[in-house]
Amino acid sequence: MDEISEKLFHLSDNTPVLIAAYDGFDRLRYANGAFRSAFFLDEGETPLWSDLMRRNFKASIGTVVRDPDFETWLISTQSRRGKTGFREFETDLADGRWLWMTETIQNDGWMLCIANDITRLRSHGRSVRQDRDRAIKASYTDDLTGVANRRFVNARMEEMVQRLDVLGCVCLLDLDNFKYINDRFGHHSGDIILRDFAVRIQRQVRRSDCFGRVGGEEFVLVLPATSTSEAELIVERMLAAIRKSRPLRQKADFGYTFSAGIALAISGDVVADVLSRADTALYSAKIAGRNRIHLAA
Ligand code: GH3
Ligand code: MG
Ligand code: MG
Repeated sequence: MDEISEKLFHLSDNTPVLIAAYDGFDRLRYANGAFRSAFFLDEGETPLWSDLMRRNFKASIGTVVRDPDFETWLISTQSRRGKTGFREFETDLADGRWLWMTETIQNDGWMLCIANDITRLRSHGRSVRQDRDRAIKASYTDDLTGVANRRFVNARMEEMVQRLDVLGCVCLLDLDNFKYINDRFGHHSGDIILRDFAVRIQRQVRRSDCFGRVGGEEFVLVLPATSTSEAELIVERMLAAIRKSRPLRQKADFGYTFSAGIALAISGDVVADVLSRADTALYSAKIAGRNRIHLAA
């Protein structure tokens, strides 16, 4: 370690400001003393963010999670966490402290988190700020599945085509014969299947990627800095997971599938261009018999 790095390291371990860094897989790679104490981490521990949150939730310590079902909260939070270059929000801890948290994401997926204790600040504006945060969250979330909605996905696609130094892919995922499934098992079962799909896919989405519901049974995956062959591998893995799913309790042998179209964003594209190529590829996957993935020509 050179002198400056050593100095910085020492300084950051002796400030009440909370500092941490996560890698692209959302594994905690560095946390200073203040961060470790707020989130009950031992020195040298490097858990995945999701595991840290789950463990603290079970012990009712660390971040306050208002959703009684942790996994629902996790899926919804992960669908928005760490996508944009910079994000700031308020968060409260089980010990009553309030934090102003900032997240800065680099192109390689690493994320710097810096948080300040704002418990002493004017508390009367807090509920207004919380309401605002809740409204922002709702405006980016699909009600039925809890994953990102069309508005959020569109914004990520816009960002991707504007950052043309690094190419990326757009994948359209559409459930197969969903009308038939609804007709056969009822709309309620249809909703259960949509939620099952969203949860299973979101589990496999890398943090820098974005997954959301853009229509009835249509979903989009935005994969920045990803080649078509990588995208195909990722979606193949998702398709394999969905094929194995048996979401209906009263119909234990029922399985479902989806079809996907994948298109690479190219220089000069607007979002509609790459979406239209992905849609053509999706259509050809449907025609070819569904339950498969096609790449745009
Ligand atoms: P394909 O394999 O060609 O995609 O056929 P499909 O039946 O999946 O496609 P189609 O577009 O004909 O039908 C989509 C169906 O999705 C029709 C609609 O009733 C259903 N749907 C849309 N939104 C929802 C929803 O929120 N819940 C439920 N249960 N069904 C929905
Ligand atoms: Mg469909
Ligand atoms: Mg459809």
